[in-house]
Parts: sequence; C-alpha cells; structure tokens
Amino acid sequence: MNKQSFLEKLNNVLFPHYSCPFCGRETKDGVVCKSCNHNKINANFCVKCGEHILDNEKICYICKDLERVFDSNYSCYEYNEETSGAIMALKYNDKKYLAKDFAKILFERFKTLDLHIDIVTSVPMSVEAQKKREYNHAAEIAKEFCKLADLKYEDLLAKIKSTPRQAELGRDERIKNLVGSFAIINKQIKKNKNILIIDDVFTTGSTMTACATELKKAKPNKVYCLTVTKTKNPEM
Ligand SMILES: [Zn+2]
Ligand SMILES: [Zn+2]
Repeated sequence: MNKQSFLEKLNNVLFPHYSCPFCGRETKDGVVCKSCNHNKINANFCVKCGEHILDNEKICYICKDLERVFDSNYSCYEYNEETSGAIMALKYNDKKYLAKDFAKILFERFKTLDLHIDIVTSVPMSVEAQKKREYNHAAEIAKEFCKLADLKYEDLLAKIKSTPRQAELGRDERIKNLVGSFAIINKQIKKNKNILIIDDVFTTGSTMTACATELKKAKPNKVYCLTVTKTKNPEM
C-alpha cells in the first residue's frame, strides 16, 4: 500500500464522506443527493406496479387491464437519464460497490412499507450470463439489503433458458421471451411464506411476472417485488 492511499483511507475512516450513486456528488448524510432526489417515487403510487400516479388514483392505467401475478411492486426512483447510468455501471462496468448504495436505498423504502417478509430472493441470471459478468447484480443488491434489514436471503429461482436482452424487445415480446425461462429451486419450504424479489429495474413487469408465476407454484402467501428504479409508464 503506498503512502497516499493509506492516508486517503485513514481520512475516509476519520471523516467519512459519501457520494451519490447516481451522480457522484458528495453527500453529507443519506445516500442520494438532493438534486437526484427529485427522481424519487414517494408520494402516491400504483398499488400493483409502483408507478407514481395522481393523488386521487389507486391503480395505474396499465395495471387496470393487466393481470399482475405478483402482489405488489415497490420502486424507489424513476429510471431515466439521471439514474440509469449507475444501474448500468453496476451491471456492466464492474462497479460492484454500488450494490451497497442501492441496498440502502431499498432499505429506506422498505422501512416505510408494512411488509412482513420471510425470504428475500433476486431475479436470477442464466449460468452463462453470470459466468460472463462474474456476479449477479440483483443478488448482490439483495444480499446487501438483507444485511441491513436482518432478513434471510435465498436463491429461489434459476434461469433455465437464455433469452435475448429484454431491453431490446417490446411488451408482448418480453412476456413471450420469458415464458418458461425461470424454474423454482426447492418447492417444499415456501408454503405460506411471504417472499420478496429484488431487482434493479422494473420496466414492463414481465420479468417479475415470470418469476412470480414460478414462485407461486410453491404456494407462498404473498410475492412482493422491490426494485431500485422503475421506467415511467408510456403516455396513454
Ligand atoms: Zn446525485
Ligand atoms: Zn400499475
């Protein structure tokens, strides 16, 4: 270790400072800086998908006409130009440390929800994809989240079919793309349990629907989703 990095490390221990995961600005308290916090979804949200909606509404226009297999999704920030860079950096640029920041964000949101969770899990990646990327970013976030929330983490699902990247597909194609691509690992012990699935982004919800469909075969009580970000519903 060279002298400078030792001093830097010592300085960080004595005078800790944090930087916003989305923009890198220094923050004195909290995780996300004031400027990025305007992307937070915290006022009124759809009871099914977590979309930010008008105060007098309970459910968004998409969920009204759609069967959501999971019980509810909760998202913390809107996925947009300002927030997507950090998500990509964790996924593709080896910035694994961001998982801790995202876990803190999820935990802050989780504390405001009255959920009783027995098992936390994450959206799995295929074996090949994980080998290539070396870690599953969603599992990293979920494991860090469990440390903060004092909950049990378990891999409950496996991705048994490699599928084209969801980002390149439309809504109907996304659902078709994912049918039969997840499988539950060990059905026995999930009966009557409340399960929480963690992921980085909620887009159309087709990934969570596919995961929840598989998990529901084990007859859990509830399947909730908690995601760091959510893409805004398209304009009607
Ligand atoms: Zn920021
Ligand atoms: Zn909705």
